[in-house]
Amino acid sequence: MSTLEIELCQRCRCCEVSWEACDLCGGEGLDGHDCGEDTCCCLYPEDNETCHQCDGAGGWGICFGRCDSKGVHEVERPASRDTLPM
Ligand SMILES: [Zn+2]
Ligand SMILES: [Zn+2]
Ligand SMILES: [Zn+2]
Ligand SMILES: [Zn+2]
Repeated sequence: MSTLEIELCQRCRCCEVSWEACDLCGGEGLDGHDCGEDTCCCLYPEDNETCHQCDGAGGWGICFGRCDSKGVHEVERPASRDTLPM
């Protein structure tokens, strides 16, 4: 195994990402309990439902460069070329 690598943004591949824990499940990746019964009678119901906000990941990376979904940084985004001067 390699040494600890800095995790780069998957979209722009040039910025680090900071891990943001999901506030809904608190980074657990699980939110809610469902044992398949209409009326739960579990003594200690454990969360076993996948958190829908983070999809069970427990959080998500936030790009330091704040790139958009295409990996383009806002500052680098070329201005609209629809209206080129003559
Ligand atoms: Zn990025
Ligand atoms: Zn970047
Ligand atoms: Zn979550
Ligand atoms: Zn239950």
